[in-house]
Amino acid sequence: MRPQILFPLFAEVSNLKGVGPKILPLVQKLAGPLVRDVAFLSPSGLIIRRPMTAVDAVEGHVGLFEIVIDRLIVPGKPGAPIKVRAIDETGFVHLIWFGGSAQHIDRLLPKGQKRWVSGKVERFNNEVQIVHPDIFTPEQAVDIPAVEPVYPATQGLTSRVVRKLAQAALAQAPDLAEWQDPAWLAKMRWPSWRDALKALHAPSSEPDLLPEAPIRQRLAYDELLAHQLALARRRRTRKITPAPRIMPGDASARLLDALPFSLTGAQAQAVQEIRRDLAAGEQMGRLLQGDVGSGKTAVAALALVDTAASGFQSALMAPTEILARQHYQKLAPLLETAGISTILLTGRDTPAERRERLAALAAGDAQVAIGTHALFQDAVRFDRLALAVIDEQHRFGVNERQRLQAKGDPRTGGVHLLTMSATPIPRTLELTQYGELEVSRLTEKPPGRTPVTTAVLPQARIGEVAKRLKAALDSGAQAYWICPLVAESESIDLAAAEARAADLRRILKVEVGLAHGQMPGAEREAVMADFADGRLPLLVATTVVEVGVDVPNATIMVIEHADRFGLAQLHQLRGRVGRGAKASACILLYGGSDTGQEPSLGETARVRLETLRRTEDGFVIAEEDFRLRGGGDPLGLKQSGFPAYRFADPIRHRSLLLAASDDARLILGRDPDLVSERGSTIRVLEALFDWKNDRSGAD
Ligand code: ADP
Ligand code: MG
Repeated sequence: MRPQILFPLFAEVSNLKGVGPKILPLVQKLAGPLVRDVAFLSPSGLIIRRPMTAVDAVEGHVGLFEIVIDRLIVPGKPGAPIKVRAIDETGFVHLIWFGGSAQHIDRLLPKGQKRWVSGKVERFNNEVQIVHPDIFTPEQAVDIPAVEPVYPATQGLTSRVVRKLAQAALAQAPDLAEWQDPAWLAKMRWPSWRDALKALHAPSSEPDLLPEAPIRQRLAYDELLAHQLALARRRRTRKITPAPRIMPGDASARLLDALPFSLTGAQAQAVQEIRRDLAAGEQMGRLLQGDVGSGKTAVAALALVDTAASGFQSALMAPTEILARQHYQKLAPLLETAGISTILLTGRDTPAERRERLAALAAGDAQVAIGTHALFQDAVRFDRLALAVIDEQHRFGVNERQRLQAKGDPRTGGVHLLTMSATPIPRTLELTQYGELEVSRLTEKPPGRTPVTTAVLPQARIGEVAKRLKAALDSGAQAYWICPLVAESESIDLAAAEARAADLRRILKVEVGLAHGQMPGAEREAVMADFADGRLPLLVATTVVEVGVDVPNATIMVIEHADRFGLAQLHQLRGRVGRGAKASACILLYGGSDTGQEPSLGETARVRLETLRRTEDGFVIAEEDFRLRGGGDPLGLKQSGFPAYRFADPIRHRSLLLAASDDARLILGRDPDLVSERGSTIRVLEALFDWKNDRSGAD
């Protein structure tokens, strides 16, 4: 429940003075729906007005001139600006308007009247001029701010209007009891929340605008703490939700025997962590983080087996049909050896298949369901679902995960959640994105992998690449050829892929398979199966093979137009090779045509490809990706439920984030239900930063 003291801030923005029907949608779009959102809008710059005269006007700076209007100069020809000549004791200044009405300007600036004008000083034909100046009458002049914050403006909503609205919103901000620890506040030399908010809207110099400014830090910390608290509370709610106790049994030993390898130390450790959670009787929420090829599937398989052996069902959900089928093909026989029956559910099952499989699930005859989005549809019912495993979890929305988890039986309790991700992200981002989950990491790769040699070549050398590829294929190798990313449009890319497949068939004189997102599932599956079984030497594909596909015998990966792919995506694609003991190669082709001259490569693209050439370490690649993208939207996180912070920048405020996370644990450790005096102030903080009903709220 929202504390009453916050009601004025949570009023609709239309309640603010000055927000009429015309600008209402603009304000909502710029700031958000609530008065709070306007109060939380940070200035992006500032104007410092210096008193100047015509003779000492400094070009490029914002000056404030006390002048008398001399005359209006109406343009002789259309398109020329309207000018007003204004004088002071030292000379004259031209005030300039492009467009606008001469009449209106004349009324605003009558001849002989005194005015203060302000704006950026320019020089034109060696005369001082100000384009579109701010104008103040002598009465207004007493209030001219020497420093004025500049806000992000939009068409129809100027910075000055936003500033007025921000001031109006600020006036609604109540004094709130302090929620920060006084010792910490003193140490950081931070002002109170309300003073910080006031100061936010009254910067006095450029450094005040930086994320490192104390007032911005205070607000960022408040926001991060509120978010970490919310995540920690969710974690807690999850933990007090009872869930079936899953115990490891003989079945998992049989599975381990059936695996053609033994688990790495990291895998064994992750299995142990998962088992501890599953046996605790409370709902598990765990992220299994491991770079491409680190062997997450085997870890998941053990959880599936344990769950079945304990008499419950589980679901493994993958984002693409290719991946779901691959999981099914690999896991079903293995699980069979442990006496477990598995079904596959995708969007392409025939009605008869679907009916039969759904019946098996509902009756509890099938213990494991592997599938795509088809798994969380309403018609899917489980008898005793106890575990949901989400592969490549960033491809799913929070809602989709929850819909699958909601298929548990309330009588047996909550459904355990194991999510898996190959996106290596720094710990700070992990905290903001997955703060409610426990994390297991696969820090080592299975043994016996030879590093992938990566070469970066211009597209013009494609002939040479084809020749060497031919030799490799003739000696029994298998290769992926990822097709030109030509356009945003999938159909154009598809045409290019088809053309490339035809070219390669002709030039290499080998059988070439083609796999893309638009072909019928069965057909694509057949192609993938032929490739996986070694019947097809070469697979031309669009990025459908990006996630998860595992064909250990494939050792060559050619990626055309590599410069158009993101770093993380290239890393994923390259991760398709280097999965066996044989040496692998990845060739990144860049630039336009097959025959053209060597193209120039943009700096960012060059660094990206160079990074990839240099390292296979997903973590290093992620950090570099981060650096290259700046604070923008690292790794496309916004899409995947990354919170849209108003003040905090998880990269620039990384130490604050770590502190906020510790603080949140400490606060809830002492006072889990926030019933103490500080607890009640903490509730206000949480409510203040509650974005739940907000268009940009992530969760
Ligand atoms: P990812 O973490 O990318 O999902 P996979 O689970 O697809 O990786 O595993 C990649 C490959 O490594 C598979 O071919 C798998 O059989 C193999 N693998 C997994 N664990 C081991 C291990 N401990 N020893 C050897 N090979 C393994
Ligand atoms: Mg995988």
